[in-house]
Amino acid sequence: MASESDIDPGFDVTSADDVILALAPAWARVRSRLQTEVGDIEYRTWLRQMALAGRDGDEVTLHLPTRFLRDWVRSHYGDRLAELFRAEDQSVQHVDIRVGGVVTQSESSVAAPVVKLADKPTVKAAAIDHRPDPRADLVAPLDRRFTFDSFVVGKPNEFAYACARRVAEHPASPGFNPLFLYGGVGLGKTHLMHAIAWSVSKHPDGSAASVAYMSAEKFMYRFISAIRNQQTIEFKEQLRSVDVLMIDDLQFLIGKDNTQEEFFYTFNALVDAGKQIVVSADQSPSDLSGLEARLRTRLGCGMVADIHATTFELRISILESKAQLAGIKVIPKVLEFLAHKITSNVRELEGALNRLIAHANLFGRPVTLETTQEVLHDILKAYDRRVSIEEIQKRVAEKWNIRLTDMSSARRARAVARPRQVAMYLAKQLTSRSLPEIGRMFGNRDHTTVMHAVSRINELMERDTAFAEEVELLRRMLES
Ligand code: ADP
Ligand code: MG
Repeated sequence: MASESDIDPGFDVTSADDVILALAPAWARVRSRLQTEVGDIEYRTWLRQMALAGRDGDEVTLHLPTRFLRDWVRSHYGDRLAELFRAEDQSVQHVDIRVGGVVTQSESSVAAPVVKLADKPTVKAAAIDHRPDPRADLVAPLDRRFTFDSFVVGKPNEFAYACARRVAEHPASPGFNPLFLYGGVGLGKTHLMHAIAWSVSKHPDGSAASVAYMSAEKFMYRFISAIRNQQTIEFKEQLRSVDVLMIDDLQFLIGKDNTQEEFFYTFNALVDAGKQIVVSADQSPSDLSGLEARLRTRLGCGMVADIHATTFELRISILESKAQLAGIKVIPKVLEFLAHKITSNVRELEGALNRLIAHANLFGRPVTLETTQEVLHDILKAYDRRVSIEEIQKRVAEKWNIRLTDMSSARRARAVARPRQVAMYLAKQLTSRSLPEIGRMFGNRDHTTVMHAVSRINELMERDTAFAEEVELLRRMLES
């Protein structure tokens, strides 16, 4: 780890940021080795969203955004990840894989080409300087496939899509700056951001805007290493010289106060200069409670667009479009089966379809419902074990003899409120829904209400063993 003297005294880098940064090179090598071992499709489907979250002694913690991904990665790649880490860095012995709100678009994700956007030098070349040119890094690799054309539009995403198009065609128009895209995991936020980046970098009138696109995680790495290398001024100048600044997965900056502050200043400087900002996150600005209030306020000032969970119709359209792009005919029965079974997000849907396509190509046989069930049996099994919030509400209401509508009603009588809290607690335990999502399903309650319910039920279960047994029984019933 670098000593304090490496760091520009004007900034105080938090130790959590520091630990992650120190491990970042080893982590990058672990990822890329794993990607080579498992292949691109497998990697994209299951592993791309792993993020390095921290370290405690000889144990490294990785985050994945959903329980499903976590379970999958734990059981299929957990041991290998630990081995690869140990090989890179002997001080690491164990790898702990957890669910965490961090979603990353890693630079080592796919072998996507790096686009050189508008090549206008903005930073005077430093005289003799052996440090790497930081400007080279302002655009993370963009995925060739993530364009507006390949984005399937339906009710849940049409508003976000329209806003993204508008910003791509007329950056920095009044009312659309900043553009804040938010929604759950795997619903197309990154896809839309790449589409904007591609589009503004080859504008029809021949002009090209300079674009900086990176994940919030990358933004933090770049910021801290600029501090290390005493290049903060250059870094700031570069960022402030672009026409469009896009930061993906902003929720990563929660708890990273110094980086947040830097982002805030850059943000203001760019907006004041009439440049476009596009930000994505997993929650709306007002729900990102770990972000500084003044930043949240500014983020909410432009256009805020929500990408909603997919509908059955949208899932079918997406599957049709992806099968067509792959040049494979898949019978409607199979597409419907997939759209019924895999409902959580588009990435998992795509992963399942990719497997089917790989299988069809390998054996040169058309995909039938039987082969689908066979090829995807592990994924489907994991899905069958998943419980829906509706199911939880129904079972809990039955058990305590209250009406199902009381799960979302405003009634506060204990006889109603307690079962409702139990249902929220189980929803948190048994599903991969976020606190705001759970709150929404319980009569549009705030995420803090859900948080309170979870800790209240935990408390009660510790104090009252009979109650704890009842809740446990319910849980087992729901899980079986
Ligand atoms: P997020 O950033 O919201 O987690 P991504 O943009 O990475 O999600 O999307 C996950 C995958 O699903 C990507 O491969 C993306 O192309 C695909 N996808 C999501 N929504 C759509 C859509 N409406 N049309 C086509 N592909 C989509
Ligand atoms: Mg994303």
